[in-house]
Amino acid sequence: MARIAVGGFQHETNTFASLPATLADFQAPDAWPGLVRGAELFDAVRGINLPAAGFIDEARAEGSPLIPLAWCAAQPSGRVAREAFESISQMLLEDLAAASSLDAVYLDLHGAMVAEHVDDADGELLARVRRLVGRDVRIVASLDFHANVSPRMVEIADALIGYRTYPHVDMADTGARAFVLLREVLQRPCPVRLRRSLPFLIPLTSQCTLLEPMRSLMEQAEQPNPAGVASLGFFPGFPAADVAECGPSVVAFGHDPRAVERAVGSLHAAVLGQEAAFGLELAGVEEAVELARQHDGRPGHPLILADTQDNPGAGGNADTTTLLKALVAADIPGTLAGVLWDPEAAARAHAAGEGAWVDLALGARSAFPGETPLAARYRVERLGDGKFTGTGPFYRGGRFELGPMALLSLGGARIVVATRKQQAADQAMFRHVGAEPAEATVLMLKSSVHFRADFGPMAGRVVLVEAPGPNPADPARLPFTRLPPAMRLRPGAARLR
Ligand SMILES: [Zn+2]
Repeated sequence: MARIAVGGFQHETNTFASLPATLADFQAPDAWPGLVRGAELFDAVRGINLPAAGFIDEARAEGSPLIPLAWCAAQPSGRVAREAFESISQMLLEDLAAASSLDAVYLDLHGAMVAEHVDDADGELLARVRRLVGRDVRIVASLDFHANVSPRMVEIADALIGYRTYPHVDMADTGARAFVLLREVLQRPCPVRLRRSLPFLIPLTSQCTLLEPMRSLMEQAEQPNPAGVASLGFFPGFPAADVAECGPSVVAFGHDPRAVERAVGSLHAAVLGQEAAFGLELAGVEEAVELARQHDGRPGHPLILADTQDNPGAGGNADTTTLLKALVAADIPGTLAGVLWDPEAAARAHAAGEGAWVDLALGARSAFPGETPLAARYRVERLGDGKFTGTGPFYRGGRFELGPMALLSLGGARIVVATRKQQAADQAMFRHVGAEPAEATVLMLKSSVHFRADFGPMAGRVVLVEAPGPNPADPARLPFTRLPPAMRLRPGAARLR
């Protein structure tokens, strides 16, 4: 049986976001485990919808001996601090160097990591691993759907495989598929590899695979591989990254140059052919509040307002207040909002206790320009320690540690606050403090797309709201400087410059 080393280092970097990802950010648990090293990796990821978990389960079912390395992930944010990238890379390499007679290395990567000193951080990490293990050890990595796959990554890895869903409900499945691919590559290495980039960026909210055109495009990508092709993937990319590698790509590995060329060419042409079908429908704040006023208020099918531009799953800080203030002013009974990142408010609520009234300047902690706190007297409805398990299809099995949390009320609105920021993509984040999302009439969520996995089925209607925030829904509004000149900043947009 092949001896396989398993590790991971995941970060989705919004190079426009102000806060960097520090070593402490990778060490702290959130919905996913904090930095783990060695055998504790197995227990840390067990049962969670994570690629490493799916890979480990599949490998163990086959009886493959696994050598655990370091694994970590941090919330999307600005560039990864130099110290964090170097320390974590060093851990992975030290653990690899200590492992003897390896046949293969599996890495659970994101593919859109940018460090302070390295634009293509995933490519750099793969290069260091390759230098250490040499040409005869196979390297396979799984990548996020939002990977900005670089030519270097494709050149260095023996194969790459990506998620096929957004919301990412198939992360563990992708890990299992990575094991199957690795087994194949161990028997028969792939001499042929091809990466073809697309000439336009795709907004995050237009990448949802529950909607067209992505649903059909991913169906095409999921067809069984033709003979001579070992893996084929469409990576829509993470647009908020001012690096040369930013953008969607189609990537394949295989044995037959013509089969690989045909597969990549056909999927690439299909994406190009759908350029005009990628919509970007956003409501302004006033329009959103008007829709909330008109929503019929029957429980069981809330109007969901996605505060996408402050999504902490894409580099936002979950603390802007413009949409929240407008909803509070409208005073619509049954409004539920979350999850707001405000450690001070959570601490004050805990100090005051359940049932107490407390004066708070809520939100706007990260000082995004133009944002101010929502200062008011709030009632502390419920408190929580922030420790609970994810129950939705995306955060399934995640052992959350969000620090002290509280459910606050203000007029007709209830607001969930947490000490650590986390995208509102699981109903457990609300139920933990006694709020039942399905009973809300209006549900404001700090999320772009991932919320649809757990909240979509109950939604009466979903509206993406363009309230101010650090993660513009339209990439054409980002001040890029390093993209190739031919790159269109959104589907159908004029060329860059
Ligand atoms: Zn992603």
